[in-house]
Amino acid sequence: MAQLIDLKVGFSCNNNCIHCVISDKTKEKDLSLEQIKELVNGYIEQYGEIQLTLTGGEVTIRKDFIQLMDYVKEKKSEGKITFADMQTNARMLSHNDRAMAAAEAIDFFLVAIHSSIPAIHDTITGANGSFEQTKQAIINLKKYAGSDRIATQTVINQMNIGHLPDVYKFIVEDLGLSECNITFPHPIGVCLSDKIVPTYEYAQFFINESLDYCLKHNIQPYIEAIPFCVWNPGMNRQYAIEFLKKRSIDVIGYGGEKDGTVDYASLFDEGHRKYDTCKKCPYFSVCEGVWKEHLLIYPNEDMYKLYLKGVDE
Ligand code: SF4
Repeated sequence: MAQLIDLKVGFSCNNNCIHCVISDKTKEKDLSLEQIKELVNGYIEQYGEIQLTLTGGEVTIRKDFIQLMDYVKEKKSEGKITFADMQTNARMLSHNDRAMAAAEAIDFFLVAIHSSIPAIHDTITGANGSFEQTKQAIINLKKYAGSDRIATQTVINQMNIGHLPDVYKFIVEDLGLSECNITFPHPIGVCLSDKIVPTYEYAQFFINESLDYCLKHNIQPYIEAIPFCVWNPGMNRQYAIEFLKKRSIDVIGYGGEKDGTVDYASLFDEGHRKYDTCKKCPYFSVCEGVWKEHLLIYPNEDMYKLYLKGVDE
């Protein structure tokens, strides 16, 4: 199987999200097209075939975006890149030429949409008009690539948690998409704050309502950083258990000047922690825990209490 490669092409971005995890890296210089080619060619030489994820920062704002897409297309036609995907706020894909170029090169788009309410999405992204641009980009990508090549990523925060189920309703019923993520924020950089990250206890109800909605509509969301105890016993917890069995974190990549080459699987354990009360939990040995920085914001969150909720009801 082709090696999964995650390539951060630079940290420049046209959004300024309140939950941004790379806010401490925005002064780093973006990779040039030549540097990107050098890195990708190196991975191809090492592994033969790769699956490439392009991320940043924001890939689509690059001046050489069309040339980058041409290069990806070329490597795909040679069979060296077997699959290419992109994590993007997609605002620049509201322009037809960029959307068409992207659709020709990229197999799958993960588009960030953080609220169903335009003003709240724009406040979260720190960019006026970003909601409308991302929405237009999704219309373009549906036209040039097709709905089945688009998923959405919604990062939970204090501004959207209260209407989280509506965000998924919007994604399915208004945007017409059927793949999505439910992602708990990683509290690093500007995100290391209780003003941005809710407790799991507060988020629990809304997260479960969101999954209820998705499963009712035959949608299987990707879930990130949400331990088993947060999910209601029964269908939702079972879904989380099955999801974890299927997920692969065997990804390596380039994380920018500061981080260099990154092996995400070996970083995974280092990045997570459990609370003392977790020792009582039956999932203790199989659970990945929460982001270690979550304990800095909420040193006394009792995850075991969440596990117990509903167990004896
Ligand atoms: S070990 Fe802790 S975080 Fe994991 S499921 Fe159990 S209570 Fe939740």
